Amino acid sequence: MFLKRLPKFEYHVPTSLPEALDLLAQHDGKARVLAGGTDLLVSMKKREVLPEHLISLKGIAEMKGIQDEKEGMKIGALVTLGEIEHSKIIQERYRVLWDAVQVMASLQVRSLGTIGGNLCSAAPSADTAPPLIVLDASVEIISSNGKRKVLVEKFFKGPGESVLIPGEILTQITIPNPVKKSGGAYLKLMRRAAMDLAQVGIAAWLSIDSEKRTCRGAKIALGAVGSTPIRALKAEQVLLNKELNETVGREAGKIAAQEANPRSSMRASKEYRREMIEVLTKRAVMEAYKRID
Ligand SMILES: Cc1cc2nc3c(=O)[nH]c(=O)nc-3n(C[C@H](O)[C@H](O)[C@H](O)COP(=O)(O)OP(=O)(O)OC[C@H]3O[C@@H](n4cnc5c(N)ncnc54)[C@H](O)[C@@H]3O)c2cc1C
Repeated sequence: MFLKRLPKFEYHVPTSLPEALDLLAQHDGKARVLAGGTDLLVSMKKREVLPEHLISLKGIAEMKGIQDEKEGMKIGALVTLGEIEHSKIIQERYRVLWDAVQVMASLQVRSLGTIGGNLCSAAPSADTAPPLIVLDASVEIISSNGKRKVLVEKFFKGPGESVLIPGEILTQITIPNPVKKSGGAYLKLMRRAAMDLAQVGIAAWLSIDSEKRTCRGAKIALGAVGSTPIRALKAEQVLLNKELNETVGREAGKIAAQEANPRSSMRASKEYRREMIEVLTKRAVMEAYKRID
């Protein structure tokens, strides 16, 4: 990969959302917003995108911080992957998301890269996507026309493509409170132990009936197995109302592998990906079950 110097651009640092939206409108079609820059600046060096204006979001206080509110957790779009990694509350309450940031990039990239940027880049392998999908998270999007909320599950449209339209900014992510007797896990397969995108990324979330010990709720989301992260809806059905054990987990894995549409790339062949979906789905389901207290 040959990286050139950054092309010339004008740099703006608004300190409020209205100011950022004004700048976006003013430089319509010629501007990009910048969060951590770990994706965008690389794309600019590769000359894949050539914005004339970069609008940094880093000065906007309301897009920062993790807040534990009555209706759930609010995570500002500018919260870095490193902040999530060091958040006790996310580790304890939303372990599936915490798992994901443990296996993302490097210390340096995690200290700059943001959760909002990870979603907005819309890579099929974005590691925070499957966990946020199984947690039923939604994103808040703002533009000069107002605000809208979109489920993370409905956010992705294709590789590098999301529901965001020009002039919109993703401001925060909301994750509802987890129900009692629930647990989740994220497993990622990489070619090497660190600093690599997922060959396959699987998030599982389960809740159980505390008396019967049967599965009351199940969500499985798959990353890097198609043009967008997806839910494995049929595999989830396999788990519902069953006692969770290795046999049921294995069956869910088989079905999940059939639901995915992986392609071959330099990272893995589609056949290998499919096999790994089967194996890792079963493992993620069993790990999620083990974590239910
Ligand atoms: C060495 C390396 C390793 C990596 N490893 C991983 C990995 O393991 N897993 C993984 O998933 N990713 C990985 N990445 C990709 C990247 O680091 C992450 O996707 C990161 O979270 C991107 O966030 P950012 O804040 O840097 O985004 P930026 O680069 O600032 O922005 C990315 C895109 O999103 C847009 N954008 C950013 N924020 C917003 C917003 N709030 N509203 C609207 N649009 C917005 C930007 O305009 C741009 O188009 C890696 C990158 C590198 C360089």
